[in-house]
Amino acid sequence: MTIFSKIINREIPAKIAYEDDRCLAFHDVNPQAPVHVLLIPKKFIRSMAELTSNDQDLMGHMMVKASEIAKSLGLAENGYRIVVNTNRDGGQSVFHLHIHILGGRGLGWPPG
Ligand code: 5GP
Repeated sequence: MTIFSKIINREIPAKIAYEDDRCLAFHDVNPQAPVHVLLIPKKFIRSMAELTSNDQDLMGHMMVKASEIAKSLGLAENGYRIVVNTNRDGGQSVFHLHIHILGGRGLGWPPG
């Protein structure tokens, strides 16, 4: 159980950007760009490293939703970045898989 389960269950508040039966998107509490949204599956998956072929439809669904959410937030034309930090070296701090959607400014490369 992580803080993201509590957001799914509405035990703690979040600014919701999108929701359906399989996923939830909400604004990051500590944004790293003018727009910073997290998209999470409602199903508990610890990280990208835990994915199996059973998750193929869910993850495909979430990538399409990430594109639609980015567009709805006005990011599509100028561009944005999708990031999935994974485990220690990836810098993951909340162990419920999440897709970062970052935009609203030019983003540096390579990442730190
Ligand atoms: P990670 O470092 O695991 O890739 O990303 C976790 C993200 O969750 C961070 O960007 C952090 O700011 C965000 N976060 C952590 N706790 C909360 C919270 O309670 N509410 C919201 N909206 N975001 C959170």
